[in-house]
Amino acid sequence: MSAPVVIIGTGLAGYNLAREWRKLDTQTPLLLISADDGRFYSKPMLSTGFAKNKDAEGLVMSEAGAMAEQLVAEIRTHTSVTGIDPRQRRVWIGEEVVNYRDLILAWGAEPIRVPVAGDAQDSIFPLNDLEDYARLRAALTGKRRVLILGAGLIGCEFANDLRAGGYEVDVVAPCEQVMPGLLPPSAATAVQAGLQGIGVRFYLGPMLASLDHAGDALLGRLSDGQMIECDAVLSAVGLRPRIALAAAAGLEVNRGIVVDRQLRTSHDNIYALGDCAEVDGLNLLYVMPLMACARALARTLAGEPMAVAYGPMPVTVKTPACPLVVSPPPRARHGEWTVEGAGENIRALCRDESGALLGYALTGAAVQDRLALNRELPAVLA
Ligand SMILES: Cc1cc2nc3c(=O)[nH]c(=O)nc-3n(C[C@H](O)[C@H](O)[C@H](O)COP(=O)(O)OP(=O)(O)OC[C@H]3O[C@@H](n4cnc5c(N)ncnc54)[C@H](O)[C@@H]3O)c2cc1C
Repeated sequence: MSAPVVIIGTGLAGYNLAREWRKLDTQTPLLLISADDGRFYSKPMLSTGFAKNKDAEGLVMSEAGAMAEQLVAEIRTHTSVTGIDPRQRRVWIGEEVVNYRDLILAWGAEPIRVPVAGDAQDSIFPLNDLEDYARLRAALTGKRRVLILGAGLIGCEFANDLRAGGYEVDVVAPCEQVMPGLLPPSAATAVQAGLQGIGVRFYLGPMLASLDHAGDALLGRLSDGQMIECDAVLSAVGLRPRIALAAAAGLEVNRGIVVDRQLRTSHDNIYALGDCAEVDGLNLLYVMPLMACARALARTLAGEPMAVAYGPMPVTVKTPACPLVVSPPPRARHGEWTVEGAGENIRALCRDESGALLGYALTGAAVQDRLALNRELPAVLA
């Protein structure tokens, strides 16, 4: 039998690629290999689960078996690829060898861990997949207080969601505003005020220095000496694309696994997409880019090479306490921000010297302007 197309990873990148490709090729053998249980779920829903009181099971859309049937594929779950041998076109799973026709790396990114002293390391939970979500929910059974590390997009979404789910929430982050690097200060102030309005407490500036068990609870000490009692710590300090195995196999890596516009790595027959990939210099950890990549790569795998293009890609942030849509200016395009509005309703626009719109951040009632503004936005990758 001919070697299969092998996709490593059953997240949104791996599964969407498999779906798109199966629309064009129903015959070639397909093997998906996943370190997790292969259940299909929409990762963005993880930060809406507490408000909806949904457990991990409740977020699952399909079991791995149903996905295998739907995709006419073999899916190997709880199986970690440990190495790639590009010259022989094979991957290693421990001692076992699996040959491939084409190999697609869709193995995502892993949570960054910050060093925290103390005896309660086991109560710090990263949250980047369904299994992480199940672990945090289990740790919070019968408990009410969560300390969140990180005030970025994911930290703020969980702050809103946990608060809406009835938890007490403290956010600790060593920055001056929420979502630094993504939002201009006026929009950040609006979002922070919206979250404070529903009871989220912010400690911006210090870091969590130590976390210790204290009876049934946990005691966190911040670098400025403040103390916070909590029941669990959710770590949302960022993600790092998984590049180590690719680098060890001699593939070019930078922040992510370097691929061209056809999603091809520096080695023939090996491609990458999703959170692990750096596409023409861009490592975007969002769903829209990976969907565009899945459609383009499916065509390439089906024998019609196609380059990916990204149109405008505004991001709707799930902070209903202060609705937020943001479209950061494309890299290497310089512009000036102008801010209109006040309080919760901020309309911050970034324009270049000719007046062309490069990006925006809209909060509160101003989010209703997004459709009109989207028509003016430049493509992220033309
Ligand atoms: C809480 C949260 C909310 C989000 N909300 C939004 C949103 O609202 N909008 C948006 O656009 N984006 C959002 N994102 C980002 C978006 O969900 C991700 O960009 C996307 O899901 C990444 O998909 P992926 O398939 O590349 O990676 P992953 O989903 O991480 O999948 C990686 C897969 O690879 C497997 N794997 C890893 N290593 C190996 C190995 N060695 N061998 C075999 N398998 C391996 C894993 O088990 C997994 O199956 C959110 C992210 C989070 C965490």
